[in-house]
Amino acid sequence: MRKRKLLGILVLISILLLSIPNFFYKNSGSSIAHGSPGTGSLDNAYQLPYSFGNASYFSPISYYLLDDAFVHSRVYKTVVDSYATCKATCPDTHFKIMECSRKRGGNMLLHRTHENGLSIDFMMPLKKKNGKQRKRYDYMGLWHYLLKFDSDGQLSFDAKTEIDFETMAKHILALDDAARENGLRIKKVILKINLKDDFFQTKSGQAVKRRGIYFAKSLPKVVDNMHDDHYHVDFVVQ
Ligand SMILES: [Zn+2]
Repeated sequence: MRKRKLLGILVLISILLLSIPNFFYKNSGSSIAHGSPGTGSLDNAYQLPYSFGNASYFSPISYYLLDDAFVHSRVYKTVVDSYATCKATCPDTHFKIMECSRKRGGNMLLHRTHENGLSIDFMMPLKKKNGKQRKRYDYMGLWHYLLKFDSDGQLSFDAKTEIDFETMAKHILALDDAARENGLRIKKVILKINLKDDFFQTKSGQAVKRRGIYFAKSLPKVVDNMHDDHYHVDFVVQ
């Protein structure tokens, strides 16, 4: 029993030691992305803030321990600017950022891309039937990736909760504006294929379509099935 306790304490200390650098990381200068999101790396990464006003990161384990909240400096500015815009366009929504890239890019657990700091997963904003934001499922951490939605965007085990496609589209418009301001362009959005019709039916979804922002047209089944609880955005440096 004593041995087990000691082991537990040692594991806890190791976790804390591994996390410490991410508490004190400082962003400065400019980042350099190498290669592609599929095989690449990142120099001088920027760490997104854990929390900033109307948005926050979704998992302390992913942020502090797994090193997964790093992006290219231009993506950092784009994300911050996009949420500043959303303060005006969707003032009642609190957004969540999911996994980004590792401090030096490269391979990431459970992701095929995200290797060069130019990819981000954004948590799907959810709403109740009355239109109000549903935040109940925002605090699941990494388990959030396992949530399942039907082809109308309704949560599989909770008929009162559905995807807020209009708010998602407003965020993508804000990201597109901010990307251009910061020398980037949205290269690709990945959203589960059978949700795209609901997305493009919304007012802001139509505006996204008019801008010609590219959404993946077909996906391997395993990739498609992952992209209902979040949308993935790849940027490219202009
Ligand atoms: Zn992704």
